[in-house]
Amino acid sequence: MIKEGKWIHRVLKKLLIILIFIFVLIFVLWLVRFFMPRQLDDVSPEVGCSEELIEKSDILIVIPLFNNKSIAENKTWCDYILSLNKTLVLHGVYHTYKEFDEARSEDYINLGAKEFEKCFGFYPEIFEAPQMALSDENSETLKRMGFRIIGKSNEVFSKVYHCQEYGKFRVRIGGITITNKLIDFF
Ligand SMILES: [Zn+2]
Repeated sequence: MIKEGKWIHRVLKKLLIILIFIFVLIFVLWLVRFFMPRQLDDVSPEVGCSEELIEKSDILIVIPLFNNKSIAENKTWCDYILSLNKTLVLHGVYHTYKEFDEARSEDYINLGAKEFEKCFGFYPEIFEAPQMALSDENSETLKRMGFRIIGKSNEVFSKVYHCQEYGKFRVRIGGITITNKLIDFF
C-alpha cells in the first residue's frame, strides 16, 4: 500500500512538471506576440478598415488592385497611409483566392507592384501571398525580383489582424477561429 502511494505521488509530480512546462511555453509565446510588430492584412480603400486597426498596427499589408481597382486612384488614401510612417507590404495583386498557388510571371507581379509604387512613391520590398498560399515556383520568382517574403510562421509569432468587418472577420487556423478581438488578448 505504501509503495502504491509513492507511485501515484511520482506520476502526479511528473504531470505537474509537464503542466508547468506547457504553461511557460504559452506564456513565452504570449510575450513574443506582445512585443513583435503588429500586422494588419488586406489593407485597401476597397476593403474598408477602421482607423483604430490601421493605427495600432506597425506593418500594413496592402492589396494593390482589389476589385480590379487600383489603390493609386485614391491619392488622399495613399497620402494618409504614407503619413502614418508604417512598414508597407505588397499583398498579392488582385487578392483572388489562393492567387499565388498557380504560376505567376514577373509581369503579373509588376501589375500590382507598379500600382503600389504609383500610390506610395516607392517600389515594394516585402511580399505576402493572399491566404499565405505561395507555390515554390512563385517564391523563386519573387526572390529573383528582390522581394523579401513574409511566411506562415509570422502568424504564430506575431499578432496579425484583418481589415474586414471591423473585427468580426474570422479566419480559421488549424481548427481555431481567430478574430481581431481574440488577437488583442493573445
Ligand atoms: Zn489577405
